[in-house]
Amino acid sequence: MRVLLVEDNEDDALLIRETLSETTIEIERAERLSTALEQLATGKFDAVLLDLSLPDAHGLETLGRMRRDGPSVPIVVLSGLNSEEVAVKAVEEGAQDYLIKGQTDGALLTRALRYAIQRHRAEENLKERNRELLILKKISETILGSLDLRSVIERILEEAMQSGSFDLGNIRLLDRSGEMLEVTTSRGYRDPENALRHRALSRTTASAKSSFGDRLFKEPCVKEQVQQGSGNRTLKMEGVESFIMVPVRAGGEVLGIFQLASRTPRKFRPEEVNLLETIGNQMGVAVQKAQLYEETRDQAIELKKANKGKDEFLTVMSHELRTPLNVIAGYAEMTKRGIFGEINAEQQNALGKILGHSKDLLGMIDGILQATKIEAEAVKVAKEEVALGELLNEIKSTYAGSLDKDLNLRWDYPSELPSVATDGEKLKHILQNLINNAIKFTDQGSITIYVGHLTDSGKVAFKVADTGIGISEEELPFIFEKFHQVDSSATRTYGGVGLGLFIVKKFIERLGGELSVSSELGKGSTFTVTLPIEL
Ligand code: ADP
Repeated sequence: MRVLLVEDNEDDALLIRETLSETTIEIERAERLSTALEQLATGKFDAVLLDLSLPDAHGLETLGRMRRDGPSVPIVVLSGLNSEEVAVKAVEEGAQDYLIKGQTDGALLTRALRYAIQRHRAEENLKERNRELLILKKISETILGSLDLRSVIERILEEAMQSGSFDLGNIRLLDRSGEMLEVTTSRGYRDPENALRHRALSRTTASAKSSFGDRLFKEPCVKEQVQQGSGNRTLKMEGVESFIMVPVRAGGEVLGIFQLASRTPRKFRPEEVNLLETIGNQMGVAVQKAQLYEETRDQAIELKKANKGKDEFLTVMSHELRTPLNVIAGYAEMTKRGIFGEINAEQQNALGKILGHSKDLLGMIDGILQATKIEAEAVKVAKEEVALGELLNEIKSTYAGSLDKDLNLRWDYPSELPSVATDGEKLKHILQNLINNAIKFTDQGSITIYVGHLTDSGKVAFKVADTGIGISEEELPFIFEKFHQVDSSATRTYGGVGLGLFIVKKFIERLGGELSVSSELGKGSTFTVTLPIEL
C-alpha cells in the first residue's frame, strides 16, 4: 500500500513514519497542499494521510481543495487533540476517517487506512452504478418518448459517448437489403465526410472482412492501440487511439453495431464494457420499435390508398350502372303500357318481371352508393321540421294494395304526433327499409308499425314487428354488418345484398338515435328505433 503523508510538521511526520515502520506501508511525504496535489496526480497512491493545517491551506478548506482539485483517493485526516471537532466535520464532508496524532499505533493506523480504502472503493462503485443507472434511464426515456428512429438513435449515441467521455462515435444499421450494415449516424468527426468513408459490413461475411470476425456480432470488441496497428484507415485519419465496437441487438438478432472512439489512449474496464453492451441492447429495442412503427404506418397509408381506390371505383361503377338500368326500366315501362303497340298478357308478365328486377337492381346499386358514402364519411344530414304524422301517412300510402303476399300490415300510431327536427329523407329511408325487410322475411301473419312519443325522455320510438322467420341468437349481433346476410348460400330464398341494415344503422346514428332488435327464430323480429325530437 502506498500512502501520501501530507504533513508540514517534521516531528509529527517522523512519528507517523516510526509508527508505520513495522508495516508494509510505503510512505511519501508532502509538506504543502500544492506539492501534495502534484504528487497525487501521478496516480500512484492508494490513500492520503492529511494534516489539515498546512502552510498553504487551513482547516476544512484543505480537505475541500484536495477533493476538488485532486483525483478521487481515500483521505484519512490527522488531527491534534484540540482540533477533533474539525476532524469530525471533515469526515462529514468526505474524508473516510480521522486519527488523533500521538494516539495511534501501527496496527491501528494500518487498519484505518485499509478500511478507508475499502470504503472509498465501495462508495466509488456505488457512484458508478448510480451514474450507469441514470444513463440507462435517460436512454429508456428517449426510446419511450419518440418514434422517430433517427432522432432516437442520435440521442442514444450522444448519451453513450458522454457515458465514457468518448470523442467520436458512429452507428451502423442494417440497410434495406437486410444484409449490409451501413453507417447511418455519427458524431464528433473532425471531417464529417470521414464518417461516410467507413465501409459497410456484411452481416454474413463479417468474418472475412472484419478483423474481429464473427465475434463482432456477439460481444463488444475493443482495440486499444489503433495508430500502431494495421487497418482502421479512417479512424487513424481522425486521430483515434482506442475504440470499442458493440453489437446492437434485439431478441438475439443483430440489427447494427455502434462504435465509440477516443483520441487519447484509454483502457476499457469490464463494467464500462457491460454498460455499453446494455446500451447496445436498448438501442436494438429502439430500432425494432421504430421499424415496427414505420412498417405499420406504411401499411396504414397503403390501406388508405387502396380503400380510397375501392370507394372511387364503386362510386363510378354505381353511376355507370344506374344510367343504362334506368333506360332499360324506362323502355320496359313504356312497352308495358302499350306505348309502342299492343302487347299480350304473357308479354305483360315478362315486362313486369323485367321492371321488378330492374327495381331490385337499382335498389342494390343505391345501397352500394350509400354505403360507400357512409364509409367515406360523406353523408350529409339535413335538419328540418318533420311533421311525423304526415310522414307516416305518406309512407303508409306507398304500401296500400302493393303487397303480393297474404300479410296484414297494421299501422299503430296516434293521430297527434309531435314534429321532429331531423332529416326527413333519411328517416323515411330508415322506416321503409325496416318495413321492406319485415315484408321480405315474413310469409304469413302480420307486420305492425308502431310509433309513439316518449314524453319522459323527449324521444320518439318506432317499432317494426313481424311474425316472420326470425333471426337466431348467434346471428343477431352480425346483421348490421356490411354485406352480412344470415343466409348467404347461392340457393337462398330472399334477395338483397346485405347492405340495408348497415345503412339504416349508420343513418340512425347520424340522426342521434338508437337501433335495437329482438328476435326469435321462427316467431318473428322486432326492430326498435328511438330518435331525439331535436337533432
Ligand atoms: P338484405 O339486403 O339481405 O336484406 P339487410 O342488411 O337488410 O340485408 O339485412 C341483413 C340480414 O339480416 C338479412 O339478410 C336477414 O338475414 C336478416 N334480417 C333483416 N331483417 C330481418 C327480419 N325482419 N326478419 C328476419 N331476418 C332479417
